[in-house]
Amino acid sequence: MNRASAVNGSRPRAKRSAKSESSRPADDSSGPVAAPPAPTVLSASVLVLNRLYMAVHIINIRRAFCLLYRDLAEVIHFEEGRFTNYSFETWLELSELHVECKLPSEDWIRGVTFEILAPRVIRLLEFDRVPKQHLHLNRRTVLARDEHTCQYCGRHYPTSQLSLDHVVPRSRGGGMTWENVVCACLACNTKKGGRTPPEARMKLVRHPKRPSHNPMLAQKLNNPKYEIWRTWLEGVCWDIGAKE
Ligand SMILES: [Zn+2]
Repeated sequence: MNRASAVNGSRPRAKRSAKSESSRPADDSSGPVAAPPAPTVLSASVLVLNRLYMAVHIINIRRAFCLLYRDLAEVIHFEEGRFTNYSFETWLELSELHVECKLPSEDWIRGVTFEILAPRVIRLLEFDRVPKQHLHLNRRTVLARDEHTCQYCGRHYPTSQLSLDHVVPRSRGGGMTWENVVCACLACNTKKGGRTPPEARMKLVRHPKRPSHNPMLAQKLNNPKYEIWRTWLEGVCWDIGAKE
């Protein structure tokens, strides 16, 4: 399949043999997605394994298809009780077979003349290192650790109504650390002001500490879409979300 065939309206070739016949444009690294995916699909994530089947990263669908299309990765798909590996072409073929019986938990990318199932896991075919695991401290990860719950009044709020509070105020030397930063609603944050909790007569719901696992990852795993990731993520604590 090449980009021209999708744009011109012919159905993309799905068979393995098509790969040797078709010429992929040498300068085309943008993949086969001819029409922009729906926003929900765009926000979907793909777990990346290295060649040794170790989880190394989480990327978006578009980036995953770039890697697949350039033969740098393959799809790992769970079906009938086992994992199966698919090249881009065979994945397209599988998608064609399944297009009439989509499941609600699936995301589909619609091209001009075809649809392809969004994979949940891909495996890099040449990369076998394990990147350094690092958990960034920022607003998103603190809110995720505290489960969007104000650590003073204990109520749950949407992201827009939450702020970060330094338990020991910055003016008193309190640092931006996992042990000194909590999620607080605007009312509690204003009430506390530049005071410590005892001075403001406020009590923390939970003593803040560095999370033992990545809170952003825990949020993802609670979504049934990514249930399959658990196979590779036991004990993994890396930085995701901070740069997304
Ligand atoms: Zn509050």
